[in-house]
Amino acid sequence: MKYLILSLVAALPFLGLAAFADVATISPLQDRADRFLNLANAGYQGLYKVQSVAQWDAATDVTPAHDAASETAGYALAAFTGNTALINETKELLQHRDQLQPLTVLQLQRVLLNAAEGPMTNPKLVLARVAAETQQASTLNSFVFHLNGKVITANEIDDCLATNRDLAERQAVWEASKLSGPALKPGLVKLQKLRNGVAQELGYPDYFNLQVAGYGMTTPQMVALQDDFMRELRPLYLQLHTWVKYELAKKYHQPVPQLIPAHWLNNRWSQDWSGIVEGASLDARFKDKSPEWMVKTAEQFYTGLGFAKLPESFWALSDLYPLKPGDARKKNTHASCWHIDLDQDIRSLMSVEANAEWFHTAHHELGHAYYFMSYTRPEVPPLLRIGANPAFHEGMGELISLASSQVSYLQSVGVLPRDFTADQNAFLLDDALQRALPFIFWSSGTMTHWEADVYAGNLGPDQWNARWWDYVKKFQGIQPPSPRGEEFCDAATKTHINDNPCYYYSYAIATVLKFQLHDHIARKILHQPPQNCDYAGRREVGDFLRQIMAKGGTEDWRKVLRDATGEDLSTRAMMD
Ligand SMILES: [Zn+2]
Repeated sequence: MKYLILSLVAALPFLGLAAFADVATISPLQDRADRFLNLANAGYQGLYKVQSVAQWDAATDVTPAHDAASETAGYALAAFTGNTALINETKELLQHRDQLQPLTVLQLQRVLLNAAEGPMTNPKLVLARVAAETQQASTLNSFVFHLNGKVITANEIDDCLATNRDLAERQAVWEASKLSGPALKPGLVKLQKLRNGVAQELGYPDYFNLQVAGYGMTTPQMVALQDDFMRELRPLYLQLHTWVKYELAKKYHQPVPQLIPAHWLNNRWSQDWSGIVEGASLDARFKDKSPEWMVKTAEQFYTGLGFAKLPESFWALSDLYPLKPGDARKKNTHASCWHIDLDQDIRSLMSVEANAEWFHTAHHELGHAYYFMSYTRPEVPPLLRIGANPAFHEGMGELISLASSQVSYLQSVGVLPRDFTADQNAFLLDDALQRALPFIFWSSGTMTHWEADVYAGNLGPDQWNARWWDYVKKFQGIQPPSPRGEEFCDAATKTHINDNPCYYYSYAIATVLKFQLHDHIARKILHQPPQNCDYAGRREVGDFLRQIMAKGGTEDWRKVLRDATGEDLSTRAMMD
C-alpha cells in the first residue's frame, strides 16, 4: 500500500504537502527517490513490453524482419534502462540508502542491475551486443539439423535417443545433434567479449559476476555454493552412476565402461537420465491423450490448488504445439513462459506432444505463469516483478513438475489406471535419475564451471571444447563416443549458453530448492511421506506457494526461504 500512497503524492506535485497526513513523515530524499522510481518503473514496463513482443515474434516466427524488429526494440529498452542520467541518479540516491525505505533500495539496486545489461555510457558497445545477441538467437532458432543428408527435428533426435537400441545409429544421431555448435561458435566468441565489456562499464569484473550479483553474490561465492552441492551429493551420485553404467552395459551388450558414453543416455547432454528404470516409463500411458489435454490438465492442477484460471489471452496468444510438417514457419523449440507486459499478458512457447516429458514440462512452464500472476499486484512495482531470485522461478515450476510425477496424481487424471500398483522404488529411483542427481552434476558442475571459466576466467576459444569435455568427464562421469576437437563447440549446442548466459546455476539451486519446498509441504502441511505425496486439490498447498510467489522480488531470497520453510538452502531434503 505504501507504494500507492507515494505514487499519488508524486502525481500531485502542486498540492500542499501538509494536506496529506502520510506525507509529513516522508523525507525530501525519500520523496526524490519516489518520484524517480515512478518514472523508472513506468519507462521500464512500457519498453519491456515493446521488447518482449518483438522477441516473441522473432522466437515464434524466425524471419529477418522479425530479427530486425527485435534488435531495434532491444536497443530502445537499453536506451532507457541504461540511460546515463538514470544511472547517475540511482548511484547518488544509493549513497544515502540508510535514509530510504527498504523497498526503495531494492528497486534502485534493480535499476542498476538492469542498467548494467545495456549501459549507455558506451552506446556503441551496447548496440554491438544487441546486434550480436539477435544474430545468435536467429542462428539458434533457425538451425536445421541433418542426419545422412536428411532433415531431422529436435523432437525426432530426442525420440530416437529415447527408443533406439542400435549403438551405431544412436552415435550418428548424437553427433548430428552437435552440428549446431560450429555454426554458433563465431557468434559466441564475439559475445564473450561484448558481454564482459558491457558488465565492466558499470564496474563488474565480468558478465558472470554481473549475473550472480542478482543473488547478492560474487562468482567465487556462487561457484563455492555449487561445489558444496556436489560435495554433499557425490557419494549418492557415485552409487547411481555405477548402477546406471552396469544397466546400460547390459542393455547394449557391451563391457562395463569406466565413464558412461554420452550416446548411451537418452538426453543429448546427459543432463537427465531418463528411460533407464524398468517400470517407471509413462510414455505409453499418454498414447490416447491430446497435446491440448496436456496443457489443460496442467492448468487444472493449479486451479485445484486455488489459483485462478489462466487469462483468456494466454490461450489466444500462446504458441503451444509443434509446427505441422511442411510448415514454412520456423520457431524456437525450447519451452519457455513469458510475462510480456509485466501485467496480464502471459504467454508460453512450447511444442507439446503427448508424452511424459511434455506432461511434466507443461506443469513446469505454467509454474512461471502462476508466479507472474501472483506478484502482478499494485504492492509489487514493475521493477520487482521477478522471482525472489531466478532460482525461485525455476524451483516453483520444478516443484509442480515433481508433483505431477506422483502416482496418485497420475491416477486422478487418468494417466495411470486406478488399480495401478506402483513399484515405489522404481519411481523413486527414476526421480533421482531424471530430476535430481545427474542434473546437479551437469548444472553445478559442467555448465557453471565452463561459463565461469569463459566469462570470469576469459578462457580462450581455442580451449573451449577441451575444457568442456574435461568437465563433463570430471563432474558427470561421461565421455564422448568419438574425439571432440576444437572444430566442434559442444557447449554452444545448449540453448542457454547462447541466449541465457551465466544463469544455469539457477537451475541447480532450483533443484535443491524444489526438494526443500516439497519436503516442507509433505511433512509440515499435508503430513504425508515426501516419497509419495499428492497435492492435487489441496488449497493449503496453494496458499503456501502463493505467499512465497506474491512477494516477487520485494524481499531478500534468503529471508523468503527461511520464513517459508524455517531452513537455509540445503541438500538435506534432496538426500532424504
Ligand atoms: Zn523454467
